[in-house]
Amino acid sequence: MDFSRVELSDEDQKFLDEVRTFLGEIVTEDVIRRDRETGDNFDEGVHLALGAAGYLERDWNPDSDRAFTRVQRRIWELEKRRAHVPWVTSGTTAMIAKSVERFGSPELKDEVMPKVYSGHVRLCLGYTEPEGGSDVATCKTRAVRDGDSWVINGSKMFTTGAHNCQYVFLITNTDPSAPKHKSLTMFLVPLDSPGVEIQGIRTVDGDRTNIVYYSDVRVDDRYRLGEVNDGWTVVREPLNAEHGAVDAADDGLQDVSIMMHQAMFMAAAVDKAAQKSTIPDPNGRRLIDDGSVAYRLGRSVARLEASLSAPSIFGRVALAQTMRDISPDLMDVMGAASALPVGTDGAADDGASEYIYRFAPLVGIYGGTLEVFRNMIAQYALGLGKPNYSPVKT
Ligand SMILES: Cc1cc2nc3c(=O)[nH]c(=O)nc-3n(C[C@H](O)[C@H](O)[C@H](O)COP(=O)(O)OP(=O)(O)OC[C@H]3O[C@@H](n4cnc5c(N)ncnc54)[C@H](O)[C@@H]3O)c2cc1C
Repeated sequence: MDFSRVELSDEDQKFLDEVRTFLGEIVTEDVIRRDRETGDNFDEGVHLALGAAGYLERDWNPDSDRAFTRVQRRIWELEKRRAHVPWVTSGTTAMIAKSVERFGSPELKDEVMPKVYSGHVRLCLGYTEPEGGSDVATCKTRAVRDGDSWVINGSKMFTTGAHNCQYVFLITNTDPSAPKHKSLTMFLVPLDSPGVEIQGIRTVDGDRTNIVYYSDVRVDDRYRLGEVNDGWTVVREPLNAEHGAVDAADDGLQDVSIMMHQAMFMAAAVDKAAQKSTIPDPNGRRLIDDGSVAYRLGRSVARLEASLSAPSIFGRVALAQTMRDISPDLMDVMGAASALPVGTDGAADDGASEYIYRFAPLVGIYGGTLEVFRNMIAQYALGLGKPNYSPVKT
């Protein structure tokens, strides 16, 4: 890993200045307020503006004449985070677009990809089902062939962003009698198909996600990705990327683990608590002068820094666990007014630690739960073998 400072060329510095100005203009206070209110983590106006300015294509199309260089990509990612560009639906779109490029028919690519680059088409993930999401291959949503098309029936839980997307990357079961990893077929299903019903769900931190019902949804075979019953080949790569089970490039121009957007909320909350603890009250007393406050704040900072430096799948676990562990400490240190949410008069830290307290459980669930990741680390990284849940023999 190369930790040295990246020297920006004049061209890269110009790119940074342009991007910072552009994002500053389109991500207004209104965008941020609306995003908080809807919980969408998506803003159509911002997304279309990024598409119109060519940034989506430069980011996502490696064959574009103006594709980002490694340094430009790093600048782009950091600047989007700094400007609070909503990231969830654009992240799922980027991930699925790669699978469309790789496994879609030329016809499907022509239909979808230009509009992905312009921002008019967005893509969401349809993996999880009401009966369980950790084992993605246990899929009950059925697709049955009927001539040149397929008829899909079932339901998917937590299809985040479906109400802002045009297609869903859907795992279906096309052979219930086959072993589960040989029973799956992937489709890119148009969400305006008759028989698709999207119902909103609000999570405890205010995010919006969806349950999506599929009742006799008819989809042409050209929307199939990869071979019939070989969906696992199609879905494996995006699953690994979502799990963060891929190594960061060693040139230092990439996050060391996934979930850095989420981590930045935690870092901001720690900064705000630290700042608050040094401001004297009317009697001249500062929170930080209390030894237990100093200890708990110091521990939070140390845990934060350690989690920010943990790579790949270890970082994914460390960040989510740290958020769960330190958010109650931060709130406790700041007292009762820390329970007031963002934008409320009198909130101790403008709701920063209260927000991560509500956000932390989700960060340890979506894209795979902490328990599942710990098992993966035990099994694959530490070589401890498959977990055995049978009762201990005495
Ligand atoms: C806010 C949010 C957004 C989401 N967005 C999407 C999305 O866009 N698309 C999508 O498809 N899904 C999405 N998900 C679903 C998410 O990926 C699943 O919730 C997650 O994979 C866990 O599945 P589950 O909730 O069905 O829990 P289950 O798989 O039913 O697990 C229940 C419990 O059992 C434990 N468990 C299960 N298997 C094991 C194991 N092998 N070892 C140890 N413990 C185990 C789990 O840790 C958990 O505590 C989202 C979830 C949330 C909360």
